[in-house]
Amino acid sequence: MSNWASSLTYGARRVHRPRTVDELRALVARTDRIRALGTRHSFSGVADTTGDLVRLDGLAESMLLNPEAGTVTVSAGTRYAELAPYLHRAGYALGNMASLPHISVAGSVATGTHGSGDGQRCLAAAVSGLELVGPEGDLVELGRDTHADEFAGTVVALGALGVVTRLTLDVEPAYQVAQTVCPDVPLDEVAEDVDAVFGAAYSVSLFTDWRSGHGSVWLKRRTDRPDSRWGRGRQAAAPVHPVPGVDPASSTEQLGVPGPWYQRLPHFRPELTPGAGEELQSEYFLPRSQAATAFAAIRALADRIAPVLHIAEVRTVRGDDLWLSSAYGRDTVTFHFTWLKDLPSVRPVIAAIEEQLMPLGARPHWAKLTETPAERITAGYPRAADFARLAEKHDPDGKFRSAFIDQLFTNL
Ligand SMILES: Cc1cc2nc3c(=O)[nH]c(=O)nc-3n(C[C@H](O)[C@H](O)[C@H](O)COP(=O)(O)OP(=O)(O)OC[C@H]3O[C@@H](n4cnc5c(N)ncnc54)[C@H](O)[C@@H]3O)c2cc1C
Repeated sequence: MSNWASSLTYGARRVHRPRTVDELRALVARTDRIRALGTRHSFSGVADTTGDLVRLDGLAESMLLNPEAGTVTVSAGTRYAELAPYLHRAGYALGNMASLPHISVAGSVATGTHGSGDGQRCLAAAVSGLELVGPEGDLVELGRDTHADEFAGTVVALGALGVVTRLTLDVEPAYQVAQTVCPDVPLDEVAEDVDAVFGAAYSVSLFTDWRSGHGSVWLKRRTDRPDSRWGRGRQAAAPVHPVPGVDPASSTEQLGVPGPWYQRLPHFRPELTPGAGEELQSEYFLPRSQAATAFAAIRALADRIAPVLHIAEVRTVRGDDLWLSSAYGRDTVTFHFTWLKDLPSVRPVIAAIEEQLMPLGARPHWAKLTETPAERITAGYPRAADFARLAEKHDPDGKFRSAFIDQLFTNL
């Protein structure tokens, strides 16, 4: 079995798909090495193992709204594409979504997946509770209020603490979003006033090839929030795709037409797959204060980047306190690259970008490609050693560990 992009074949001995939580518990108890698998959208080896893999999409799907608590509890195999319309029908919403809704909630949370917005934290920050199967097949319940000392370490956990079976997420009243695209914005203008551009709407993305000197700014405005002046008067007259020239059929609705939050915050519609996986990805989380320096550093590499690039995207993420979140402790600007599926050509370019961005405090996305050694990555996380201890406590025999996890968290 391979990942969504077919760029990585998992080294697993077996892939299981239990039908009930009890079956899952028995499976975990009798297996010496096992890891959970979501919708397989990661490009790194984060989900890989030479032990067994277990899929959660065979378990009965459940989504249970608790309006009094302002939460929804979902089974771990649930994808945002199923959760979002369910919430909206009931009059509720999530604060944020990633660029596509096809990904599983548990897998996204486990890797610190994010959308965009100065005020929006990564998707895992919405988690207030989770249930997981521990190494003995035991069911463990953890909550933000009940386990305040370690909960922040258990949410973005890269699958290393156990198999998550249920997650409880914060919700808010449903809202409407209107999406517009401003084409041909000079990168100089963005770099000079990152606050104006990324503060112009609830969620903002900049797409560019870095070489043209221009990008398109996607503004996702909440209709219940005040409008900003930036970007007015230069909107695209027809819908576009993030990659210039590609058919916009799979893009979410634009041209300023208001609609439900979940049909505007992602770039791609749930009913259409945004491509056949003919891509690779890497992404870096930097302190927001480094935005202009990072713009200059990446632009200096534009002639190497553009020939192997589908498209690049810049977003912002509010800082959080989740130990392994790549936005831990700081408001963040992220630099994402969707590459051609040509690893030998892409790898040296990734290395060149990282040579520039790592000294600026970059943290590579856990789920995407990187050329940076593991110890340099964990050095960017002040709570990495605490996480290593937490993993040891939950999983003393290393049942949920893998080469990927061992490289990062051994000897801290
Ligand atoms: C087209 C595309 C668009 C993307 N857009 C974004 C984006 O906008 N923002 C962003 O930040 N990232 C983005 N990503 C990356 C993506 O969000 C991550 O790869 C995320 O992990 C996907 O979830 P998954 O279910 O596919 O995880 P998988 O790749 O299946 O697994 C990832 C990790 O989650 C763990 N895991 C999964 N389920 C469980 C469970 N039940 N219990 C414990 N651990 C579990 C696995 O063990 C593994 O460590 C994108 C990827 C693609 C391919």
